[in-house]
Amino acid sequence: MRGLLATLLVSVVALTALSGCGTANSSNEPELPALPPIQHDLGPVAYRELIGDTFELLNEYWNEQANRLGETMPPPRALVSFWTRAQDKGCGGEKLGWQNAQYCWQNRTIAWDGNWVYGVLYRRLGDAAVAFLLGHEYGHMVQDELGVSSEFRHTIEAELNADCLSGAWLGAVNDQVITFDRSDYESLYDGMLEVADAYGVPWTDPSAHGTAAQRGRALLFGARHGARACINQLGPGFTA
Ligand SMILES: [Zn+2]
Repeated sequence: MRGLLATLLVSVVALTALSGCGTANSSNEPELPALPPIQHDLGPVAYRELIGDTFELLNEYWNEQANRLGETMPPPRALVSFWTRAQDKGCGGEKLGWQNAQYCWQNRTIAWDGNWVYGVLYRRLGDAAVAFLLGHEYGHMVQDELGVSSEFRHTIEAELNADCLSGAWLGAVNDQVITFDRSDYESLYDGMLEVADAYGVPWTDPSAHGTAAQRGRALLFGARHGARACINQLGPGFTA
């Protein structure tokens, strides 16, 4: 059984090979916009490749979704893996802080605590937990691009919607370019527990992100029904 990392690598190699076939662009597909380099890209090669490949697949998937509607999905302006407090540029003047990841709409940046993502998610929980988290943050950028970010009445709606969008992406790549094995599902489940709220946090709490069950259901819904269903059924105003 291959892990998610190995399968991600295979798919990216395959995609690179495809895009390298011939010099003429025979189809009318728009060029995939380039991702920015990852700032403070530290850690073992396999970890760094997982992060890089995850963003490549996210960029490709969301561009494809946007192109179908005649739209574009510009990539994040910056990707920042911070390891020290000084490297944490934060968002709107506020530091992001440890054990956190975020999409900042002010500067269109995805940033994450490298110590946490590498040390906890990657080393203890596995590849798929990292992919889910980055897919969630990318999902916030998609919400921003769709213009729905400000329409969610409560934080938890936007958070579960981002889980759904991450699930839509994971479901699509799982069907088409990679195959999750048992360890990937375990990694996803463990990742869900790592980022979940405790039971009893009210739906209206401004910091609520959802329990593991709520977040797991949102991810599964996205994986089964796709991005459009995330917006239509888990969009602004939905309730649990
Ligand atoms: Zn979020």
